[in-house]
Amino acid sequence: MESSFLIKYAEIGVKGRNRYLFEDALVQNAQKALNRIDGNFHVTKEYGRIYATPQEDYDFDEAVEALSHVFGIVGICPMLQIEDEGFEDLAANVIRYIGDNYMDQNFTFKVMAKRARKNYPLNSMEINQELGGRILEAFPQTKVDVRHPDVVIHVEIRNHINIYSKIIAGPAGMPVGTAGKAMLLLSGGIDSPVAGYMTAKRGVVIDAVYFHAPPHTSERAKQKVIDLAKQVAQYSGPIKLHVVNFTDIQMYIYDQCPHDELTIIMRRYMMRIAEHFAVAEKANALITGESIGQVASQTMQSLAATNEVCTIPVFRPVIAFDKQEIIDIAQKIGTYETSILPYEDCCTIFVAKHPVTKPNINVIRNSETKLAEKIDEMVQKAIDTVEIIEIGQ
Ligand code: ATP
Ligand code: MG
Repeated sequence: MESSFLIKYAEIGVKGRNRYLFEDALVQNAQKALNRIDGNFHVTKEYGRIYATPQEDYDFDEAVEALSHVFGIVGICPMLQIEDEGFEDLAANVIRYIGDNYMDQNFTFKVMAKRARKNYPLNSMEINQELGGRILEAFPQTKVDVRHPDVVIHVEIRNHINIYSKIIAGPAGMPVGTAGKAMLLLSGGIDSPVAGYMTAKRGVVIDAVYFHAPPHTSERAKQKVIDLAKQVAQYSGPIKLHVVNFTDIQMYIYDQCPHDELTIIMRRYMMRIAEHFAVAEKANALITGESIGQVASQTMQSLAATNEVCTIPVFRPVIAFDKQEIIDIAQKIGTYETSILPYEDCCTIFVAKHPVTKPNINVIRNSETKLAEKIDEMVQKAIDTVEIIEIGQ
């Protein structure tokens, strides 16, 4: 049986002098993911290859599942790794590998040898031919097909020899921790967890902020956001979730400002507070789950109005996605079922029947002047009373 994994990565291979930083981050992240399961894996790197080698029994599906959450991995290859004890030993091992891994040997194949070590007595072409011949002898039902083989038997001659033929797709992307940090505005909906996932996929560390409005929003709504953060953290690694009590601010806006502007003004205060925490956590950007045209607060004009209060960049990874496209990702990453639980979020409770869809920034600014008396104090209090929950530690 194959005993370990060869981990393939793509994009990080092209990062020039920073390459080792990316490889080291990937090694670390894969190691952390595997530490959560049995097998006591050692993850190591060796010239363009990363290996995960178990030190004891492990569950194959569990290991693949763990690695399939590590961004930067494009292929997970169960591998038989052997020492170089001559060509006859290699041939015997390849035949054993095929016998162990393919119950039905009615397939076409080709051997693809790669010699990273030029002192091996046969060159790659010769290895392909010799091993091909041995395989045909051992398994007469097989056939060679060099153009469209069912099975490609990879044989890599390095310090050790790697034999593998199955490549399970990884999540791709860049290793988390190689691209700075961003603060995700995480609500209980479908879109923001997907936006967080997509940004983490580019190597960005994620922290999050959730605006909670008790008693208008329940503990269950908060728990739902915690659960979503846990699901995103399976990919992104630990998330520091800031739970902000937004009730007083929301009520004050409701009392002082025109109701059709409520959502926009509320969103502007969310952005301001989120930016405060972003700066405090040394995050370089905010992330939201906004998508053009989805609701009144996501028209181009509304987006401009909420954007205006931020000084750091605001990333909106799903801005041009259709709802169904976002749902597809939510289903793939496992957040969808949680997101559709019916607990109200703080926006829905105060939504006006006819919210402005083309807010004029000057009008909005003018409305906000009606908050002058107490708003600074309320924002400060919301910041001072934040509850921080460490997710996925
Ligand atoms: P989602 O599905 O992400 O909840 P949505 O379609 O419900 O999005 P809105 O409610 O307009 O859209 O929110 C737009 C974005 O604003 C969200 O994607 C999220 O980033 C942020 N947001 C909204 N409500 C909250 C909240 N209570 N706490 C934190 N962020 C929020
Ligand atoms: Mg929402």
